[in-house]
Amino acid sequence: MVTPLSLLILEDSADDALLLVKALQQSGFDPQWQQVETQQDYLAALPKGFDLILADYTLPQFDALQALEILQQSSWDIPLIVVTGSISEEVAVQCMKQGAADYLLKDRLARLGPAVTHALQDRKLLDQKRQAEVALQQNEAKFRCLIQHSTDLITILGLDGTIKYTSPAHKTVLGYQAEDLLGKSVFELIHPDDLIQAVAHLQEIVQTAESHLSRTEFQVLRQDGSWCVLESTGSNLLADPSVSGIVIHSRDVSQRKQAEDLLRHNAFHDQLTQLPNRALFLDRLEQAIHLLKRRDDFSFAVFFLDLDRFKVVNDSLGHQAGDQLLSAIAQRLKFQLRLGDTFARLGGDEFAILLENIRHVSDVTRVADRIQQSLALPFDLNGHEVFTNASIGITLSTPDHKLPEDFLREADIAMYRAKTLGKARYEIFSLGMHEQALALLQLETDLQRAVDSLERVNNQPFELQYQPIVSLETANLIGFEALLRWQHPQRGLVSPAAFIPMAEETGLIVPLGQWVLRQACRQMAQWQRQFPKDVPLSISVNISGRQFAQPDLLDQIKQILVETGLDARSLKLEITESILIENTQLASTLFLKLKALGIQLYMDDFGTGYSSLSYLHHFPVDMLKIDRCFVNSLDNPSQTGREHKSILQTIVMLAQNLGIDVTAEGVETAAQLAQLKAIKCGYGQGYFFSQPISATKATHIIAADRQAKLKHLMTA
Ligand code: C2E
Ligand code: MG
Ligand code: MG
Repeated sequence: MVTPLSLLILEDSADDALLLVKALQQSGFDPQWQQVETQQDYLAALPKGFDLILADYTLPQFDALQALEILQQSSWDIPLIVVTGSISEEVAVQCMKQGAADYLLKDRLARLGPAVTHALQDRKLLDQKRQAEVALQQNEAKFRCLIQHSTDLITILGLDGTIKYTSPAHKTVLGYQAEDLLGKSVFELIHPDDLIQAVAHLQEIVQTAESHLSRTEFQVLRQDGSWCVLESTGSNLLADPSVSGIVIHSRDVSQRKQAEDLLRHNAFHDQLTQLPNRALFLDRLEQAIHLLKRRDDFSFAVFFLDLDRFKVVNDSLGHQAGDQLLSAIAQRLKFQLRLGDTFARLGGDEFAILLENIRHVSDVTRVADRIQQSLALPFDLNGHEVFTNASIGITLSTPDHKLPEDFLREADIAMYRAKTLGKARYEIFSLGMHEQALALLQLETDLQRAVDSLERVNNQPFELQYQPIVSLETANLIGFEALLRWQHPQRGLVSPAAFIPMAEETGLIVPLGQWVLRQACRQMAQWQRQFPKDVPLSISVNISGRQFAQPDLLDQIKQILVETGLDARSLKLEITESILIENTQLASTLFLKLKALGIQLYMDDFGTGYSSLSYLHHFPVDMLKIDRCFVNSLDNPSQTGREHKSILQTIVMLAQNLGIDVTAEGVETAAQLAQLKAIKCGYGQGYFFSQPISATKATHIIAADRQAKLKHLMTA
């Protein structure tokens, strides 16, 4: 087999050159050759590219050493063998030092073939080595670049956790330069909460040979003092001499953690108040139930808290104000509880509290009292002073096995009981309440049915009774108050105290109240036509807060007046103080419109609520109806009796100064009447004059001119 060979011969003798070619041909080469003699030709030939150069040591104008030097300085990496007639040992050494592949004498040309083969092999090996080096360098550069630009942190640790290497990402992620960290223990950077876990993780990696891919998360201190959550995997490369350490690969997962935490928080917290939600509350309650089963000395209480007038605030001031109020309440109540207690918003205006480690019932009632007291202070909603209260139902843990929902239901029932007993109070659940709750639910269903049947059936389940209002000065009957009665098919007559709050709660008061208004106006219009008088009788109708919040109340009233033909001046609306306080803004505009129509406003049950006389300056009230508890105590010689009497006196005087009339409610005895007359109270209403009576009986009273009889009673 012949080996092709492109050859450059540096030689001044053509014969010698030919000899070289022949020698090569004999050794199995097929040379393509060019002969040059001068430096100039040599330089011109080099770019053609040769496998080999054979150079005579001495030429007339040039020599092999110069040729070698040119080669070394150029990029032509071609093996050069020096061939010469005679050469000293020194020159030979010099040639080799200059980079000659070999040297040989012209009279030993038999060695040329092997020398060329050898030189070409050497070259090939060298090329391969160079290529490998280049590839290695490229690879190294690639990895360095990856590490330099990786957002992941690569840390090499010693067996004991000493930091031996940190990648540049430590600067961007944690803020440290390499020199801040090298030589330190990695554990100095780990959050105390995660330290045990981190040590265990490192040990695990150390014990595992080579790769270990279990992940762990821990918090690491940033240079600025904040904490960063890293997710790490580690490899044990202690045995690898190029690393001899534990390689920790970490990634900053703080943002992902934050998002996860937020999602978890949202799943278990109420967005508005940031309190735990129902799900979390039931979960905590379940834990408490577990504890209850295991520990004899453990007990807990569940509070169910419902705001008493939230709907009114929401309807009158708007949902935004409602939200503000809920947040403010959440904030305020938090301070009344211990750190370990769970305070949750169940939804709407309902909250729940779990008190754990209760020693005595008084622990529970004390908390309930504190809550009531703190809620009694007004809330400021964008300049509106709002009062709210809460009805609280409480249930105490019992050892019988119950579900979290059962406790919550019991507390809810007790809360409902607190509401029916007058709100702004707490009740502790008892078994009897369950029955009562069922009965109440039944009553609610019946009330709904009764209201649905309004105007439809002849035999009305509702009826109005009328109670006379009398002038104490002249003993004249001036009008009646219309009072609603519900004839229940099974229970008989149900008192308004039992069903009016329920009707307010459910909203049934709206259609019911409208019916009352129409019925009362119609009756009074009929009496006025039947018994014309100089000063016509008037009718008082009770209006609840829920009715007041209706935007079309004014239109409804106008329409009823037109429909029944009653003069607006004969209609008096009885409202309670809470309406004013909860709807300050709404109330004042609506009042002015009602007044413009000629309708008078009576303040009902005065003295039982806020009794804020200052309101009387702002609202165009025509009459105060003093609550009967004041009248009751008029013939009571006790301290409270005396106090009530003096309060009554003050109210009457103050009202007179403001041009407001006063009616005393619940006048039952002649003694009370005498006292009321003495302090110049203008009007009275009560069993002493007459109980609330049917329309037919009232007609008789008017017809038979009972005034004479009333007068007789008053002078007796
Ligand atoms: P109120 O408006 O203060 O009505 C006076 C209540 O006192 C009536 O009770 C009346 O029967 C009672 N009363 C009158 N004189 C005496 C007395 O001398 N002694 C005693 N012990 N009580 C007397 P009633 O009819 O049970 O009504 C209770 C409450 O229910 C009313 O208090 C009123 O707030 C509400 N109510 C009654 N009818 C309606 C209505 O049509 N609509 C609305 N929204 N509420 C109504
Ligand atoms: Mg009334
Ligand atoms: Mg009253």
